[in-house]
Amino acid sequence: MAVCARLCGVGPARGCRRRQQRRDAAEPAAADSGPDTDPEEERIEAGPAAGSRRSLLELPPELLVEIFAALPGPDLPRLAQVCSRFRRLLRTDTIWRRRCREEYGACEDPRGLEAAGVSCRDVYAKLLHRYRHILGLWQPDIGPYGGLLNVVVDGVVIVGWMYLPPHDPHVDDPMRFKPLFRIHLVEQKGATVECMYGHHGPHNGHIQIVKKDEFSTKCNETDHHRMPGGRQEEFRTWLREEWGRTLEDIFHEHMQELILMKFIYTSQYDNCLTYRRIYLPPSRPDDLIPPGLFKGTYGSHGLEIVMLSFHGQRARGTKVTGDPNIPAGQQTVEVDLARRIQLPGGEQQHSFSELSRLVLEVREQVRQQQQQQQQGAPGDDPRPPDPGPAPAPAPPGPGQGQPFVLPAGVSSRNDGYPRTCRACFYGTGLIAGHGFTSPERTPGVFVLFDQDRFGFLWLELKSFSLYSRVQVAFRHADAPSPQAFEDMLKNIQALAS
Ligand SMILES: [Zn+2]
Repeated sequence: MAVCARLCGVGPARGCRRRQQRRDAAEPAAADSGPDTDPEEERIEAGPAAGSRRSLLELPPELLVEIFAALPGPDLPRLAQVCSRFRRLLRTDTIWRRRCREEYGACEDPRGLEAAGVSCRDVYAKLLHRYRHILGLWQPDIGPYGGLLNVVVDGVVIVGWMYLPPHDPHVDDPMRFKPLFRIHLVEQKGATVECMYGHHGPHNGHIQIVKKDEFSTKCNETDHHRMPGGRQEEFRTWLREEWGRTLEDIFHEHMQELILMKFIYTSQYDNCLTYRRIYLPPSRPDDLIPPGLFKGTYGSHGLEIVMLSFHGQRARGTKVTGDPNIPAGQQTVEVDLARRIQLPGGEQQHSFSELSRLVLEVREQVRQQQQQQQQGAPGDDPRPPDPGPAPAPAPPGPGQGQPFVLPAGVSSRNDGYPRTCRACFYGTGLIAGHGFTSPERTPGVFVLFDQDRFGFLWLELKSFSLYSRVQVAFRHADAPSPQAFEDMLKNIQALAS
């Protein structure tokens, strides 16, 4: 902002007036800017028309308020130091109302604020500006389970919304969400943090910003989380909310065990949680489909949230939520977009062994290429060791679908997968024992159905995962740069292993 840049060099009130007088005296002679012109003086001449040479101080107050309201909020306190008139004008609440709205999307309820004796300036300074670093998308540190939190400004309240996948195995259902905490100004003196966990309403909590991309929450009244029926009732309620069923509905013994384990593990974190910032993947025009978050089926572990991102010839699925086998932060699938796979047709379309043969053939090619690259000592071969990525495949358009049939013997938790697909690619999926023991990337097929759905066929597990796009407009979630996104991915992966 030109006006701001000029004003920032301005000194205290007395200096202001002195320069004003000097300029007034010099006015007739200063028609052309001679070499004696004071640069400081040049800066204060903030009139839109350079020829007018009028001082900002001569502008009517309504116009000044209008100008100030258009400046970034963090610059305004410096402006208030210019002179007492500016300081007085900067108390005008419409300036701060506009800053709250434009910088944070806060839509205030002036009557509500008035009743609480709170001004928009208080909201800006004591709430929005103070807690600006916690706005955005976060992953809680709950051991292998992870999670997804979006901290946003709702009205004039900051709310931390926890997002949960729909009930297993309905990947196309919308995400569920519940508030974990809120911060608001109930009176002038400062912001109040409240824990929203449990079924007994908001209660006293605390938030600490650990460093730039990390913060923690603490509940000061965990008795609000307890239920009269004790742990039994808490478990039943959690099960109904988290899984949409009762334990008796879950016949699978292994699944019952996993569910109970998750309840016991995650309930240790009900009084204190640390969050790390995550970003949504940046999108490029030549991406196969728009990157983003997806809900996917993970067998007995239920639905998990996966982030799909594109890196040249590769697509990566990173777990935002995880399980005791593959924790949150790990790369669950990696897709080689340069290696298309043509599914077996005709009589062979149900044949698992035929599909397996095709995929293993590609794996062998990949292995041989990697070997050649490793053996090619520099200097011996004039060719570069890596031929470089081939151009990205053109996204298959509509109407180019091929029939998709799950081979015999491959299980899928969700039978609602589309029966035609646009394209299939070679990929690898990460599998591991309980506690992320002996992790291994195993071959599989990435199946692109449409813009919002894909699948992964895990050859070794003989199972199929279906993924469906998370249709939520998360706020404050974009990475400041592609590099910041890459760094974030590396960081969450390092923390998971
Ligand atoms: Zn609480």
